[in-house]
Amino acid sequence: MKYIGAHVSAAGGIENAPLNAQAIGATAFAFFTKNQRQWQAKPLSQESIEKFRENCERYDFSPEQILPHDSYLINLGHPETEGLEKSREAFVDELRRCEQLGLKYLNFHPGSHLRKITENQCITKIAESINLALDVTSGVTAVIENTAGQGSNLGFSFEQLAAMIDGVEDKSRVGICYDTCHAFAAGYDMRSTDGCEKVFDDFQRIVGFDYLCGMHLNDSRSEYASRVDRHHSLGHGNLGLNVFQFIMQDERFDGIPLVLETIDPSIWADEIELLRSFQQAA
Ligand SMILES: [Zn+2]
Ligand SMILES: [Zn+2]
Repeated sequence: MKYIGAHVSAAGGIENAPLNAQAIGATAFAFFTKNQRQWQAKPLSQESIEKFRENCERYDFSPEQILPHDSYLINLGHPETEGLEKSREAFVDELRRCEQLGLKYLNFHPGSHLRKITENQCITKIAESINLALDVTSGVTAVIENTAGQGSNLGFSFEQLAAMIDGVEDKSRVGICYDTCHAFAAGYDMRSTDGCEKVFDDFQRIVGFDYLCGMHLNDSRSEYASRVDRHHSLGHGNLGLNVFQFIMQDERFDGIPLVLETIDPSIWADEIELLRSFQQAA
C-alpha cells in the first residue's frame, strides 16, 4: 500500500491539516505543529488535540501516514553552546507535541556546522542531541531528512546519515526521510532507471531500508549535484518523472508517507493522481 500526500497547511489550527489533506485526495500528509519560523509557540490546546485526532480518524489517517516536520530554526549540530541548548530544548518540545497528538514520527533536518567545527564533530553533536531528546520522550521516532548539502548543512550523503544513526543509542526510534530533490542536488542521479537502481542499492547497503520512515517527492529546479535546494513540481524540473515511476512501482516504498513538497499547491491533487497512475502502470 502506498500512502501519498503533501505537506499541507495547518493555518487556523493543526486540526485543519487532515481536512486539507483529505480535500486533495491524499492518503498521507505532512504539516508543522507550530509556526516553523519562530522559536516560541503556545502549547497545543486540549480542544485542538481532540479535534486533530477526530479529523484523522474520520478521514482514515493513521500515525503511519503522517509525517510532521519540525521548525527550520533548530540546529541539533550547532557549534556553540547557546544555539545548541536552544535547539535541543525546542526539539524536545516538538517531540512532545507529536506525543500529545498520538503521532509516530518527527521529521527534521539534521544540522549545520556553520564552518566552526568539523563534519565529524557536528555529526557527533547531532547524534547526542537525538539521544538526549529520545531519553525524555516516548513513542515518537526521530526521522532524519537527507539534505541538499546547501551551505554547511550535513546529511547530504548516505554515509553521513549512517554515521548519525550509528551514534543513536535507541535504533528503534531513529529513521530516515528521503527527499528526492535533496538527493539529486547532493549528487545522487535518479534520472534513469539504472540510476535509480544504483542509488537505492547504495541506500540499502549504506543506510538500510529498515530505517526508511518517509519520503519527500519533489522534482528539482536546481541542477544535478549543485548542492542547491530548490524544489519543483513533478516533471517540471531537472530530475524528471522517471524516479517517481520507479518509486511507485517498488514495494520497498510501501507503508510510509510519500509527501509532496512541490511548489504549486493548486496542482497537488493532480500530482497525487499522477503518482497513483504510475502505480497502476506496473
Ligand atoms: Zn525538510
Ligand atoms: Zn523535504
